[in-house]
Amino acid sequence: MSLYQELASRIGLGDSTIIPRLFEMLADETDARILLSLPGTIPDVQTRMCLSQEKAEKRMKELFLKGLVFPSHKTTPATYRMGRDFVQFHDATILWKEAPREFLDLWQEFMEKEWPEVARRISEMLPKPFTRMIPVNIAIQAKTNVLDFESVSDMVKKARILAVTKCTCRLTARKCDRPLEACIQVNNAAAYALSRGTGRKITAEEALEILKKSEEEGLIHVTMNRHEADHFICNCCPCCCQTMPILIKGGIRVVDPSRYRAEISEERCTGCGTCQERCYFSAITWGKGEGSVSRVDASKCMGCGLCRVTCPEEAIELVDVRPESFIP
Ligand code: SF4
Ligand code: SF4
Ligand code: SF4
Repeated sequence: MSLYQELASRIGLGDSTIIPRLFEMLADETDARILLSLPGTIPDVQTRMCLSQEKAEKRMKELFLKGLVFPSHKTTPATYRMGRDFVQFHDATILWKEAPREFLDLWQEFMEKEWPEVARRISEMLPKPFTRMIPVNIAIQAKTNVLDFESVSDMVKKARILAVTKCTCRLTARKCDRPLEACIQVNNAAAYALSRGTGRKITAEEALEILKKSEEEGLIHVTMNRHEADHFICNCCPCCCQTMPILIKGGIRVVDPSRYRAEISEERCTGCGTCQERCYFSAITWGKGEGSVSRVDASKCMGCGLCRVTCPEEAIELVDVRPESFIP
């Protein structure tokens, strides 16, 4: 097995033909051997690889900037490890500031050729998808129970530190012109992005502005599928995103719905059809014709709330239809 195939195995993708090539673009042979020797401190790397302190420090700094190693400051000196899995490898290396276009294009080749099958395998292995949708940041029907981990505004207001990074999916896929600076990093993820220079520090007000703009642009809020959602708030499009197209076209459950579902008021709806165009999940049937109303197919609605943002009659409400325990 080549060094690069071995690195691909470390993130669970040893059978990929593209992931080893991505590693090869990021790491020369010495770097590859360093990565395979981790976890370890810089003095460990110095000894293991017979490098001077200066050379070991320089290489580790470069590997950090490329998103290949992550320091833990729980020890002194810090202990470095490789990315844990595919997701970390994807998100961190694509934001490498000096990434050449060929590198980003190779990532896109992987997303198109190999990722759908890998995603299907992962979705079958995991009890729940890794991410979930959060409804748009608008008042949900008063009778419903909005919990703080499913309110994007509460998440950003409570955050200790926030940063915005470029959307790695749109950066590689380039299938739409929706905003690039759209991934909100929260707390430790924000500190990591700032230390690598891949993110820009933002205030809670700026984060709310990004979320509002995202909703207007038809982007879906997505976060970690667990109660303590203090990692990221993604704003995903249906075309470039690593999860939405395989959910929409392939029906693979790689992202959970929110706890909500859209409901259309028959009294208020004028049948304009705007909501049907906004829904990426074909969950709305547009009646067409005078006096007709649109209807929501409960089995298809993911509870993203995008339809509600542009309804001119304010005829759409989000109601909670899944218990709190739905979110792990
Ligand atoms: S998951 Fe969504 S917001 Fe996050 S990087 Fe991909 S498309 Fe962008
Ligand atoms: S956008 Fe509003 S008014 Fe128009 S069809 Fe949908 S629910 Fe009815
Ligand atoms: S009907 Fe479509 S746009 Fe509206 S909340 Fe459901 S999935 Fe989202």
